[in-house]
Amino acid sequence: MTSTRRAASPTGSPDASQDAALDASPDAAAAVRRRRLAVRAAVEQGLLSDAHPVAALLDVASVRENAACLHAAFAAVAAPGQPVLHCFAVKASSLVPVVRLLAGLGLGCEVAGPGELAVARAAGVGPERIVLDSPAKTWSELRGALELGVALNADNRQELARLDALLAPGARPARSVPPVGLRVNPQLGGGGIGATSTATATSKFGFPLRDEGAREFVVRACAERPWITRLHCHVGSQGMPPETMAAGVAALYELAEEVNRAAGERRIDTLDIGGGLPVDFASEETSPTFAEYARLLRDTVPGLFDGRYGLVTEFGRSLLAKCGLILARVEYAKRAGGRPVAITHAGVQVAARTVFAPEAWPLRVAVHDRHGRPKEGPGVVQDVAGPCCFAGDLVARGRELPELEAGDLVALLDTGAYYFSTPFDYNSLPRPGVYGFTTGADAGEGADAGGRTDGVRFLTVRPPQTLDEVVAASGGDQRDALTAPPP
Ligand SMILES: *Cc1c(COP(=O)(O)O)cnc(C)c1O
Repeated sequence: MTSTRRAASPTGSPDASQDAALDASPDAAAAVRRRRLAVRAAVEQGLLSDAHPVAALLDVASVRENAACLHAAFAAVAAPGQPVLHCFAVKASSLVPVVRLLAGLGLGCEVAGPGELAVARAAGVGPERIVLDSPAKTWSELRGALELGVALNADNRQELARLDALLAPGARPARSVPPVGLRVNPQLGGGGIGATSTATATSKFGFPLRDEGAREFVVRACAERPWITRLHCHVGSQGMPPETMAAGVAALYELAEEVNRAAGERRIDTLDIGGGLPVDFASEETSPTFAEYARLLRDTVPGLFDGRYGLVTEFGRSLLAKCGLILARVEYAKRAGGRPVAITHAGVQVAARTVFAPEAWPLRVAVHDRHGRPKEGPGVVQDVAGPCCFAGDLVARGRELPELEAGDLVALLDTGAYYFSTPFDYNSLPRPGVYGFTTGADAGEGADAGGRTDGVRFLTVRPPQTLDEVVAASGGDQRDALTAPPP
């Protein structure tokens, strides 16, 4: 797939205008202007301080734009009236105001356990717009989801047996049964990153379709249970080629057709195609776009969009990664073994994947001076370190950047999903504040250097964790638990 964006065709034919809709993609240059304005405003408004030397920012306009691109991409290829529910994968940013923003933009939620379900509910998302996917659902979670009316996808035979018991005549919850699906693994192989490849032969997720007898089992299981109305697959996340994702969706579609033939009716009425669209962490561009993926799906699995099936999607990273950044102060700049090392306040506590698996998760680092202005200067090979007490706490190694000095700021870009929203409690560092920002009308062409920042508003999504909260989360109320004399 290419990331080339084509202008609308001048012919103005219906096909051309549909292709223009298909090519809708975020405006990267405008996003860069908003981001630079927000970094300067964060300095001017005192968001960073000794007490809070790191903060996370989320571009609200960019979130809105991405959600609109997602809706437009599928609307352009779906049949008229075909139900399409886009669910946000809550693990990508389990922050209540973020989920609420997305819900207001027409998204439901994909949740993977009681915490994410609670976040989605706290954000005001209705049960009919939630789907529960987890490979480890307990009896109470299953019972709770059925009672609440949350759709769920069963992962394995033992979970299916539990559902049989819960849905047996006489054991049914009072309300009608929400949609139940089976998660299948088409076993297509891995992508570029092992940890996010869910469709390998031995993946822990779903019914492994190519194992001996497994496909027959799934077809029979569905044909025998009228309450199974969905099939689900999520072939992988970052590192998975979109073509492999589309092959997974094709396998899902073929399976649904086979089940429906076996059942003699349209038993499976909804296909949940998962999320996983990869993000370009190397540039400002969005590639692939939702539009490109929707078109790839249309070309690979035409039947998906003929209107016979409702669709559910579960995108996470591709909706939010490029909307967020982590802004951190350089506390000290030193040299070791001849290499410059900047000690910043953003390390493993906000960038666990990048620190622990740097090859798989490289991040772009933007350098700003103490006033928040983009810093220019000859590239110098240097390390950008976090504050934590282990040598591997580096967010960039041997990276060529303008030489960092104490007081400068680093911005870890494309960290709107799975970074600051998924903190790691190392060294008892407090979780940084997360702030949404809007720029008003000021993010025009001159915004980089001279533009006014007084239109920038920061909206607190998650206040910085206080030290009292750190202590409380560290068993502070149990101080004497191990030392009090036995009763
Ligand atoms: C993580 C996950 C997603 C979202 O993946 P992204 O790569 O963030 O789009 C969707 N569905 C399931 C089942 C997942 O586990």
